[in-house]
Amino acid sequence: MKRILVTGGAGFIGSHLCEKLLSLGNEVICLDNYFTGSKMNIIHLLGNRYFEVIRHDITMPVYIETDEIYNLACPASPVHYQYNGIKTIKTSVMGAINTLGLAKRTKSKILQASTSEIYGDPQIHPQNEEYWGNVNVLGPRACYDEGKRCAETLFMNYHQQNKVKIKIARIFNTYGPRMSLNDGRVVSNFIVQALKGEDITIFGDGTHTRSFQFIDDLVDGLVKLMDTKDDFTGPVNLGNPQEFEINELAEMIIKLTGTKSKIIYKPLPQDDPKQRQPDISLAREKLDWEPAVGPEEGLLKTIEYFRGILLHANPDDAAKR
Ligand code: NAD
Ligand code: UDP
Ligand code: UDP
Repeated sequence: MKRILVTGGAGFIGSHLCEKLLSLGNEVICLDNYFTGSKMNIIHLLGNRYFEVIRHDITMPVYIETDEIYNLACPASPVHYQYNGIKTIKTSVMGAINTLGLAKRTKSKILQASTSEIYGDPQIHPQNEEYWGNVNVLGPRACYDEGKRCAETLFMNYHQQNKVKIKIARIFNTYGPRMSLNDGRVVSNFIVQALKGEDITIFGDGTHTRSFQFIDDLVDGLVKLMDTKDDFTGPVNLGNPQEFEINELAEMIIKLTGTKSKIIYKPLPQDDPKQRQPDISLAREKLDWEPAVGPEEGLLKTIEYFRGILLHANPDDAAKR
């Protein structure tokens, strides 16, 4: 049995990862400061004797004994990471330093949840891991993008200088149950708007693209990446290469929910990437991984989740910390 630390474990991705790691017979320590995560995401795990929760801010050092670390702590959607940009950078950079220091001391393997955002508004398409990216260092997304880029650099330096065993996952847009209701991401926004019969807000003309992966596929990829040979560090893209225009996503959600909502168009935010699609050849080769869940199946599960949240509870309860 391994003892595994998941920072950001009460968040959307972290809570699914904790669940998966427990199901594989590990002891799991979830560390979170509940900035964007919620106790509701992990409440069903609290009865498991192999599950432990620490309320802690990862910008501060943490001293525990571990075998593996998944570093996920960081707000992930523009609304949340722009709320306090300085804190977002501190979380990425100081969070990386502290978890790497912990990994160095305990000789743990450590995986960094990096992001497709390190490619910025990409000038090559699809994006592979060789691409250096096109990020506006002073733009509104920089606190997130540059924080994550610096974290990757730190991971590589700790690996080269201190022989820390690292893995870097570049995660592309991910959706599924337990996405936060109010994070302003396109999938959650469109589904909630559709279920409430409100207008569906497309930013720009909706011809720009994203590639969406379902949460179960991502969690599977993260665990496989952690289990690769020690000499494989990544970075490796984890995403679903099926690419959609935002207009197509809106139409799909309208069809699957059966809503009478209308589409309205709003201005595109500054520095919003025009296209994004992962090249997952490396993940296929090194992890023997590729996404298995199609858009309709994944969206239906997500719609069911939000229907439950909106029907059975006061939406504010779901966000209670
Ligand atoms: P999330 O906001 O649901 O989860 C992040 C978690 O980190 C939350 O529980 C939050 O409370 C916690 N956290 C934030 N700051 C913290 C701090 N200083 N100390 C301790 N905990 C802190 O977001 P998510 O979608 O689950 O994302 C998880 C990770 O995956 C993030 O690092 C994100 O950058 C990365 N990622 C996500 C996506 C995506 O599409 N969801 C894409 C690329 C990368
Ligand atoms: N650290 C931590 N837990 C540990 C070991 C280290 O939080 O178990 C933190 C420590 O506070 C330090 C950071 O990780 O600031 C980086 O550790 P490292 O050993 O690389 O740096 P140093 O302590 O030499 O500055
Ligand atoms: N978007 C949109 N309407 C919304 C929310 C988002 O059209 O209500 C657009 C957004 O401008 C971006 C895309 O959908 O082009 C994906 O946005 P999200 O915040 O989910 O992910 P990211 O931009 O970080 O990839």
